[in-house]
Amino acid sequence: MKVLVIGGGGREHALVWALRKSSQVTEVLCAPGNGGIAQLARCIPVDPGNLHEMVNIVAIERPDLTVVGPELPLSVGLVDELSKRGFRVFGPTQAAAQLETSKAFAKEFMQRHDISTAAHALCITLDEVREELPRFAVPVVVKASGLAAGKGVVICNTHLEAEEVATQMFSGVLLGTPEIEIVIEEFLTGEELSFFALCDGTHAIEIASAQDHKRIGEGDTGPNTGGMGAYSTDGIATPAMRNWLLRNVAQKVVDGMRSEGDPFKGVLFCGIMMTPRGPMVLEFNTRFGDPETEAILLRLETDIVDLFNASIDGTANHLTIRMRPGASVCVIAASAGYPGKYVSGKPIHGLRPADPDKPIEDVVVFHSGTAIKDGQIVTAGGRVLAISSVAPDLQSALDKAYAELSKISFEGMQFRRDIGYRALSQEPA
Ligand code: AMP
Repeated sequence: MKVLVIGGGGREHALVWALRKSSQVTEVLCAPGNGGIAQLARCIPVDPGNLHEMVNIVAIERPDLTVVGPELPLSVGLVDELSKRGFRVFGPTQAAAQLETSKAFAKEFMQRHDISTAAHALCITLDEVREELPRFAVPVVVKASGLAAGKGVVICNTHLEAEEVATQMFSGVLLGTPEIEIVIEEFLTGEELSFFALCDGTHAIEIASAQDHKRIGEGDTGPNTGGMGAYSTDGIATPAMRNWLLRNVAQKVVDGMRSEGDPFKGVLFCGIMMTPRGPMVLEFNTRFGDPETEAILLRLETDIVDLFNASIDGTANHLTIRMRPGASVCVIAASAGYPGKYVSGKPIHGLRPADPDKPIEDVVVFHSGTAIKDGQIVTAGGRVLAISSVAPDLQSALDKAYAELSKISFEGMQFRRDIGYRALSQEPA
């Protein structure tokens, strides 16, 4: 079968890599793809925010299956448009993707369906913000409701600061575009966990759990990024906890969306905080996470096409997803200046291609932001590479990833040396 992947980051590189391993797949296309993906798939330029362009590509190429990677194409309704035209497509509809595209929708939905989450208030004016703030202790969290590429959450130490952040969100100073709705949220403490479930509109089944590192600096310091690394281990959550999350979060979401007339199909990413009061949902993503996917897919033993088919056909309850025991990790190599301004076009040295037919010691270098210029792979983004590996235990997986990373260089390359450090300190020696 011929499969088209929409997107052009490390997550899509990992999806393309997994598809190339499938015995059911004969051809993989990626739009727009990137320098690394181009070694595994035919890449077609496209603007992932332009619905018309994306639909056109599908109409011309007529793939047997389209897999939507990022949130932007979901938010503009790509799945709805393709389904309407009779194409098979993996991912949620525009209405179902509101769980990610509108934090206001997600919070109200969780309230309606009794899903555990932080106390909140929705505000559409500054007066409402001023009225609601006294109900919240400090620190207090201020969130933009819409998509903000990881920049829409600010933890404020005073009410005055929260008011200022809200003012800047409403005016557009903070995020570039004015925010219409703001969520004020109770501040939670605890370990974070990303729980991934495959959903088919009726059933939710577990894929895996992971933890990512959002901050730029070691020891989880400094500004937030799209993610500087991630890891997934057998012991990251107990079987009882995973079962609890499946029943009390993922399945409740699927039941709730179905009862409201917008069945949820695709991957549901549940961002969880393990608070002293129990697990609470921080956010939902309605797609594979990046960079968690680059770590998780290395452990996936089940043919990825079976996951996509089960979600589309409503047969997830008949599927068992097998993950390779042990651990996998992903370490991001980023451009100098990231997550602020960065320079692109720097030649990358020491790369080996991510060939699914010739795996190198269970290490794969996925490309997050690269391009090909004059036959040379160059940097083309803030996050540049996702160096991923799988091994029987976390320390061995980290050793392999960092050994591969030490062979790679580009001007200004920065990365965190402490991926997985919290879990490592808990692992038996
Ligand atoms: P979100 O996009 O909502 O997941 O938020 C991004 C990050 O902000 C999370 O991964 C947490 O580290 C932090 N965060 C979000 N909401 C809260 C909260 N209510 N309390 C504490 N930290 C939060």
